[in-house]
Amino acid sequence: MKFLASPELEGRGAGSVGLERAGAYIAERFRSLGLRPAGDAGTFFQAFTVTTGAKVGPANHLTVADGDRERTLLMGTEYMPISFSSNRTVKGKVVFAGYGISAAEFHYDDYARLDVKDSIVVVLRNEPPSFHTDKAGKEQVWTHHSNLIAKAINARNHGAAAILLVNGESPQQPEDVLIRFGSVAGPEDAGIVIGQVTRAVAGEWLKAAKPLSELQKQIDKESAPASVALPDSLHVSIEVDVEREHATIHNVAGYLPGETSEYVVLGAHYDHLGLGNESSLAPSLIGHVHPGADDNASGTAGLLELARLFSNAGGERKRGILFLAFSGEEIGLLGSAHWVNNPTLPLDGAVAMINMDMIGRVTGAKLFIGGTGTGSTFEPMLKRLTASSDFKIDFSVGGYSSSDHTSFVAKGVPVLFFFSGLHADYHKPSDTWDKIDPVSAARVVDLVYDVAADLDGAAERPKYVKVVEPAGPGGGPGGGYGPYFGSIPDFGPVKTGVRFSDVRPGSPAEKAGLRGGDILIQFGDKPIANLYDFTFALRGSKVGDVVEVRVLRDGKEITARVTLEQRR
Ligand SMILES: [Zn+2]
Repeated sequence: MKFLASPELEGRGAGSVGLERAGAYIAERFRSLGLRPAGDAGTFFQAFTVTTGAKVGPANHLTVADGDRERTLLMGTEYMPISFSSNRTVKGKVVFAGYGISAAEFHYDDYARLDVKDSIVVVLRNEPPSFHTDKAGKEQVWTHHSNLIAKAINARNHGAAAILLVNGESPQQPEDVLIRFGSVAGPEDAGIVIGQVTRAVAGEWLKAAKPLSELQKQIDKESAPASVALPDSLHVSIEVDVEREHATIHNVAGYLPGETSEYVVLGAHYDHLGLGNESSLAPSLIGHVHPGADDNASGTAGLLELARLFSNAGGERKRGILFLAFSGEEIGLLGSAHWVNNPTLPLDGAVAMINMDMIGRVTGAKLFIGGTGTGSTFEPMLKRLTASSDFKIDFSVGGYSSSDHTSFVAKGVPVLFFFSGLHADYHKPSDTWDKIDPVSAARVVDLVYDVAADLDGAAERPKYVKVVEPAGPGGGPGGGYGPYFGSIPDFGPVKTGVRFSDVRPGSPAEKAGLRGGDILIQFGDKPIANLYDFTFALRGSKVGDVVEVRVLRDGKEITARVTLEQRR
């Protein structure tokens, strides 16, 4: 753990030398323990390519023509593209569209009676204060309408060619600072040109209408839009050049064979956030090593220790044991998704997958074990193996969560997930090795050993059980926002749309005849290119709405009518 979380390993971000050093270290350990290579072509490594980030290319510019005057803005000072902007050149007239929000629940729509087709819309950041203040004027949680990606999708769905953000005047935004490139999470390409201009620039454009601050005051005071098309003489032309960065990263796979072709998978991801990406929970410390000692040097060290224990235990193994160290977990479970779609051992031989993600910070003897309902034999087995345990175990039946076992349960492999809980250092540079409790972590590993050994020798392999989970919050798009739809998104890459790994039994999606493998491309009148679009579309719908959706199934387009339900 100490080595994996050391500064030399640079936080193990995708595309870093540090991540590859960690991978080589794991492979060398597997080799020295006598494990067989189980990656590509007789090696311990399985390679795959990921998008790791974006940088500003050389060709960016924004030019304003007002009558016969023309001016190019200063890149980085007056104008900056957003990292998930489309790479395109657009020209158009300018429309001021308030906050750029259409919010039926507040009876508020900046686009009402506004034609923005092929235009460049200028919108304020954030949202009208009435959205997040209660009757007593006390500030509450900001709504999702304030998110930059929501504004971009809304502008695109209204036919705009580009959206330019501008800082309003608010206590949250006293200075006119442009958003740092790459600091906001979004899809790889939002399908519209997105940038930001300074208040001074936007003010210059708007002066034919009204000063920006007055427009904002008017909206804020009345909670009513004040959108306005600017004179035809004003034209903006934008060329966006965002260079997407790619890297080849690796899963590390080692195998201890058994007497049969069946095997138990033990897994842990070894990547982390590098110097901090948009998932950092300490955004002001982006650029500093995020060592990820608990997340997930702890699970990786556990995996290596299990390899040692099983390799020392010697022969007489009924089933094999496959040790999988995943990378790309932090950027979307990409390593495990790649492995289940390109398994290096026949997937039907996998009797169960046990995932360890954050096992180093057991507090008050509390341990979380997830997925207990996904295997027919799991509950009696765990009851037996934990009967004399000192852990206070919180069992949960469902197999879907935000770590790599999700990729396996989506393929019908029973899963168990070991986790010692979240803490204040999660996804921050302060997740360091000295805060790990190695004694309790080793006891978690002992328990995983007992479980894996039991599954390895069991007369019957567990049958996969599809768990009907309550549609609670936190399940992601289709699971966590807006009305209940009931699809489970696949985390592997698709060209466009949202691929379902599965649909929940009894859900609106299942009732409409949708199923795993379908790729959602249209939701009512909204095109769906990625999860963000789906989330946005779902949040804009109501319980009881009958939505016509289009999916691709085996390359053919299918239309279905889904009746959205209340979350239970
Ligand atoms: Zn993790």
